[in-house]
Amino acid sequence: MSTKNKVLIIYTGGTIGMINDPKSGRLISFDFKHMYHHIPELERLNIDLTTISFEYPVDSSEMHPSRWADIAQIVYDNYGLYDGFVILHGSDTMAYTASGLSFMLQGLKKPVILTGSQLPIGTIRTDGKENLITAIEIAASKDESGESIVQEVAVYFEYSLYRGNRSSKVSANQFEAFSSPNYAELAIAGVNIQFNKERLLRSDLSELKLFTHFDNHVALLKIFPGFSANVYKSIFDFQQVKGIIIETFGAGNAPSDVSFRELITNYINEGGIVLNITQCSSGSVEQGKYETSSFFSKIGVISGSDMTTEAALAKMMYLLGSESSLEVIKDKLSISLIGELSV
Ligand code: ASP
Repeated sequence: MSTKNKVLIIYTGGTIGMINDPKSGRLISFDFKHMYHHIPELERLNIDLTTISFEYPVDSSEMHPSRWADIAQIVYDNYGLYDGFVILHGSDTMAYTASGLSFMLQGLKKPVILTGSQLPIGTIRTDGKENLITAIEIAASKDESGESIVQEVAVYFEYSLYRGNRSSKVSANQFEAFSSPNYAELAIAGVNIQFNKERLLRSDLSELKLFTHFDNHVALLKIFPGFSANVYKSIFDFQQVKGIIIETFGAGNAPSDVSFRELITNYINEGGIVLNITQCSSGSVEQGKYETSSFFSKIGVISGSDMTTEAALAKMMYLLGSESSLEVIKDKLSISLIGELSV
């Protein structure tokens, strides 16, 4: 029997799995069954690899909570058979999928590592090979007692491992495409992979739990100087939208526009949920610090602390889909469930 650690690679689509079609000159997905042909280095890893591919690989713009659920289901069904999982995914919405999966797969004791690339694996200067090889190594890494070092959903890109629900795509063309400004890297890959052990998540759950029922009746509103509340009236319709995330200025501030305040107040009174996150790429909401945010606390807007937009959306969809009590949803939005915000 093989004593090698086993990793399941799930290919969902994106640039990493593409090669140039010599006939058309276009980028096409290659068949992951022939992975070793394109990345012969994988043969030299002392890890047992299996691959599964989406039947129709997608650009990550086509991702949807139902597709996150497909990925989560594959991990769940194969959980006992592998030591770790690598999900190959387009980088554009990788942080959303990572956030979604972190709520879908709770109680992980094994790594689920998302990676991708800015250049296709078939191009000479590709970043895909290093990303894939190191992601596999991380997914197979165990400590002295035989436990997986990483026990959560994470994103690996360009020598850094980030907590999935703390990551965001920050560059459309740099190899260093991701960042996690409010939570330091879980690991840095140099000559060795240096894990930042005190940053790694450990769950209290005794077994893996799958939550795939996400409710996408949510809206995202980014305010800007001069924004007219009337233009956005339709999203404050509780029959259509159950939760709204507002991206505010700085530490959670918004203009004291009367019609905006009225819209939010009425929406909350009807049973809607409003979550306040900052549009700054780092730092946290502190409702009440300035007059321009104290109104939010008074009417029951919830502070999203330092959550990313991706995590806030995924968390809202998860809670609306899995909890029926409004009070429970509101309470859970403001605390850390799986390391998505700082308390
Ligand atoms: N558009 C691609 C995607 O997100 C880009 C990439 O793979 O990085 O699917």
